Amino acid sequence: HIALHELHAHADKPAIQNRKHSSQGHVIPIMELGQRLVEQGIRVTFINTEVNHKLVASNWLDKDRFGHLISMVSIPDGLELWEDRSDLCKLTLSILQTMSDKLEELIETIKKEDSSKVTCVIADDSMGWAIRVAMKMGVRRTAFWPASVATLASLLSFQKLIDDRIINEKGIPVTDQTIQLSETMPPIKPENLGWACFKDEATIEATFRLVKEAVEASRLIEWFICNSSTELEAAAFSLFPQLLLIGPLLASNRLADQAGHFWQEDPTCLTWLDQQQCSVIYIAFGSFTIFNKTQFEELALGLELSNKPFLWVVRPGMTKETTTDCPDGYMERVGSRGRIVSWAPQQKVLAHPSVACFMSHCGWNSTLEGVTNGLPFLCWPYFADQFHNETYICDIWKTGLRLDKDERGIITRGEIRSKVEKLLSDKTFTVKAMDIRKKVPSSLRKCGCSHSNLSNFIEWIQER
Ligand code: UDP
Repeated sequence: HIALHELHAHADKPAIQNRKHSSQGHVIPIMELGQRLVEQGIRVTFINTEVNHKLVASNWLDKDRFGHLISMVSIPDGLELWEDRSDLCKLTLSILQTMSDKLEELIETIKKEDSSKVTCVIADDSMGWAIRVAMKMGVRRTAFWPASVATLASLLSFQKLIDDRIINEKGIPVTDQTIQLSETMPPIKPENLGWACFKDEATIEATFRLVKEAVEASRLIEWFICNSSTELEAAAFSLFPQLLLIGPLLASNRLADQAGHFWQEDPTCLTWLDQQQCSVIYIAFGSFTIFNKTQFEELALGLELSNKPFLWVVRPGMTKETTTDCPDGYMERVGSRGRIVSWAPQQKVLAHPSVACFMSHCGWNSTLEGVTNGLPFLCWPYFADQFHNETYICDIWKTGLRLDKDERGIITRGEIRSKVEKLLSDKTFTVKAMDIRKKVPSSLRKCGCSHSNLSNFIEWIQER
């Protein structure tokens, strides 16, 4: 069986320090799905681009558990290894041009070398081309969607958005009017549509091409599986009841080491958490968010002002400028109350009893991880679907607060201090977060909806 993940890969390891990585939130959940399959005795070949393959292979801590059952392979994305993969337009066009043939060759090789049958291709939904290859080769096909059903619904509705004159034929928004796909779903600003959040039109066009191809290829798939659950997204799911919700995948495995990381996790922050009394603020913005210097410093000063212990993930290359240094004398002033790491074992951090709230960019995986650990959120979305996820958190589940920008577009230190105080002093957020925490994992227990869906899917794979 072949699992593929989204291919917005970026630089080779020695050069990653200041590069953006947009696909971390795609790789981790599909690797987790791969592990669920091998637990049931299914052989998995996990295909990455060459650059992502190197990163994932070198940071896989728990290879012993599954490493012998998942075969990790890679195919080129068509760019030279040294080329800059943060140019998404160039990367997308290169992927579309080269990767189908490479995948076809790889499947042929597996068939010959292994004399085994490839029974199913599971492709990240952004890769319609991989579904077409599987179709051509007579292999069964499944699409995997790692984000919310609400976001998927906006992609699947692209033609309606064109017809309603929200976007033009190239995918570029032509109005500011918000879109609501159904009455109970969060409103979306056109500029936050998955493909429309890039600054230049060429990248929007290239990404929109990927979306259109994926939606067209979805007619060829037999299953469409999503990392979400009905408890979280009943309204969005009712628009597309043919989707198979199997998530949150990581919640059934919260304390295990995960695979798929691009950076090495720093486990020492867990020992630091053991020494804290509770009320720790955990701050992490996923793999792609970039801060400018002013905003980065304001965040640092806001955390200092809030006077609470904090664990802050400052990823290499997280600021537009080359350094991610805090203001002068900062670490001396906050002392042992503050801890900064470059990449955390996030699941384990969120499950730690000392953590009281999660300041997050609201990526879907981070959202699921905060929800399944019963944590209230301080929401700081950066782009695309992170704004829908913020709406879920603040307006639908009511488990968090927005951080508002001032007239310069900056979230100030005062705003940070005031929202930290409000969130931690008003217990209703924690109560609501604990309510959802009880509901969601029940879906993963035996007889729960996500559990039965995943079992049905696995049985279907095993049929042949
Ligand atoms: N993550 C992590 N350590 C960190 C920060 C993030 O392990 O220090 C993981 C996090 O647990 C999540 C993924 O990286 O599974 C980020 O995915 P998400 O969808 O939240 O954001 P993206 O990176 O796609 O913007």
